[in-house]
Amino acid sequence: MPSVAVPPARLAIIGGSGTQGGAFPADLHPCLVADDDGLVFETPYGDSPPFQLFTLASEPVLHVRMHGWRPGVPRGLASRQVFSVLQRAGVRRILSEAGVGSLNHLLDPGDLLVCDDFVDLTTDRAGEGVAGGRLLVMREPVCPVGREALLRSARRLAPDRRLFARGVYVVTEGPRFESPAEVRRLQGMGDIVGQSFSPEVWLARDIGACYAGIQLIVNYAEGVVSDWSHDELRRRFTDDARLMGRIVLDAAAALPGDEAGCHCRELRKPTLLA
Ligand SMILES: [Zn+2]
Repeated sequence: MPSVAVPPARLAIIGGSGTQGGAFPADLHPCLVADDDGLVFETPYGDSPPFQLFTLASEPVLHVRMHGWRPGVPRGLASRQVFSVLQRAGVRRILSEAGVGSLNHLLDPGDLLVCDDFVDLTTDRAGEGVAGGRLLVMREPVCPVGREALLRSARRLAPDRRLFARGVYVVTEGPRFESPAEVRRLQGMGDIVGQSFSPEVWLARDIGACYAGIQLIVNYAEGVVSDWSHDELRRRFTDDARLMGRIVLDAAAALPGDEAGCHCRELRKPTLLA
């Protein structure tokens, strides 16, 4: 039965390919056992996907997977269900991870990137935020404190990987991949292409939370460098899943408890359109 009461938590992790294994986070760290699992909450947008609550460095952390598509639940609606829960929990910092395609021919499968900007080309995820009545300024859309924590953890836990400290994430609606002609157009917009990051990045700003994510290149987009194989894509998703999960957990544990170091909350203003 869905619950109305959301447990308080200041930290949240939105998982992609790296945390889709059922044993997250216990699989990655023997001390991390979920305090509660399969938590479904009522929201104004319908019942939420299942959340997990666990304790990391004495802090309660809410974890939810946005990877995958629930039948009958449009992606934009699912995001609003998630952010309605995160707002009620009082979440202030959010980290995410995702597998993406490479638009920039300098990026290879296996590379890691912590993007600092995005282009939203989604067609069915627009609409109002969950807090309502806000002018959301996208001057610095990705939290610099969260980005630095992810970069530091990635350097330490994946020293043999190429790591890029900035890049532009082009968000498409999906779930299908892009055609070669679409990719040629997208190459003028950014470095990587994927189907997450928005609306999460601006819904986070809407609820007054910081948001940052790390991306793993899992394939070349069509027409970039060479054709990709389904086997390699599967291998990237499975072999690197634990690494991505460990980086996000390590970065989450290192995030400062206070809200110093960034101006994310100042970029949420009262609307002028009331
Ligand atoms: Zn911030």
